[in-house]
Amino acid sequence: MEAVVKIKALKGFKDILPGEVELWQKLENTARSVFRRYNFSEIRLPILEETRLFARSIGEGTDIVEKEMYTFTDKQITMRPEATASLLRAYLEHGLYVQKPVQRFYTIGPMFRHERPQKGRLRQFHQLDVEILGSEHARTDAELISLSALLLDELGIKTSLELNSLGCAACRPGYRETLLAYIAGHSEAFCGDCQRRSQVNPLRLLDCKNATCREQIEGAPSILDHLCDDCARHFDQVQEALQMLGLGYRLNKFMVRGLDYYCRTTFEFISTDLGAQAAVAAGGRYDGLVEILGGPEGGSGIGFAMGMERMILLMQAASGTVQPQGPDLFIAGIGEEGSKCGYVLAHGLRAKGFSVALDHQGRSLKAQMKLANKEQARYAFIIGDREMSSGLGVLKNMQERGAEQQSVPLQVSAVAELLG
Ligand SMILES: [Zn+2]
Ligand SMILES: [Zn+2]
Repeated sequence: MEAVVKIKALKGFKDILPGEVELWQKLENTARSVFRRYNFSEIRLPILEETRLFARSIGEGTDIVEKEMYTFTDKQITMRPEATASLLRAYLEHGLYVQKPVQRFYTIGPMFRHERPQKGRLRQFHQLDVEILGSEHARTDAELISLSALLLDELGIKTSLELNSLGCAACRPGYRETLLAYIAGHSEAFCGDCQRRSQVNPLRLLDCKNATCREQIEGAPSILDHLCDDCARHFDQVQEALQMLGLGYRLNKFMVRGLDYYCRTTFEFISTDLGAQAAVAAGGRYDGLVEILGGPEGGSGIGFAMGMERMILLMQAASGTVQPQGPDLFIAGIGEEGSKCGYVLAHGLRAKGFSVALDHQGRSLKAQMKLANKEQARYAFIIGDREMSSGLGVLKNMQERGAEQQSVPLQVSAVAELLG
């Protein structure tokens, strides 16, 4: 005989069990409802893509591409570490931009990054991802932000909105020079990471978490003072639209995205409910990326991603767990004949849309009623020898103590009527 091996889930991979999964369902159902109200269509994407799709879109120099991707090196394919790249690949591959000038998509699913596992950080994690492609208009930005705000609000998650503009290819290089000059003047004060990053992407210094770096950054020039006229107008319009919709926000001149193709509006919904301040949703405009991936000239996009694990934690903090929903009916068949009758009744009631549980082990009435309780069934229906001869089963309300029992014909239609 082979030795018994106990196999566990991989580190950073998590089972979502009944008891927690109800919260996930609530999150997904609420999200789908909100997305529908904003006229978004779902798009389902493969988990594996060519490695170069992510190298191209996320960027060769990034931590994600350099260290964190699950790549099958012999095949040059990678498990998606985020959704935007795949979504854009599908958008371009199927020529969706030709079908409609503006496309609005969402996708929900797992992403994979080989990070050091730490509290709340999983290697398979889940995201809601929402993108609008083909519209540069500032009202699009504010509309997408309002969708995110509505979803968080309906889930009972309290957040504050932070907003910034990253400028564009015309104005950001000038800002970059100004920032580099500032950094050069304070270079000893920055951490090692920042020293290194300043050569590649000085904007990344703005969101360094190191306390000493933060002090230096407080005095750094703001990108908002260096926007070109077009970007400044666009950013004004975004803010005006947010005000029209009654959405409060705070400008955060230090909010950046690591990559060059991010432009103009960038935003985060921040929560402090789990102790440390952290983004629940983060997104922004990435007009340049569409073209980089071979899309139409001047193609534009804006989107955001929400980390579902964090949202679940926040939902738990806000309103606790969601009670698992028990079946409408537990059928307790006693003895061979009673069990057979219950077995067939269950089949008929399920076809009529009711949720029915039953036991096949020939347990005693007492044991079956215990099960009915454990399953949190609304009703129990008892069919023993006596009920078989009278043709009437006993229907018992399991939710209301002291409720009268009822005798009900052993017919699908009769039971269905009482279950309502
Ligand atoms: Zn600009
Ligand atoms: Zn630093």
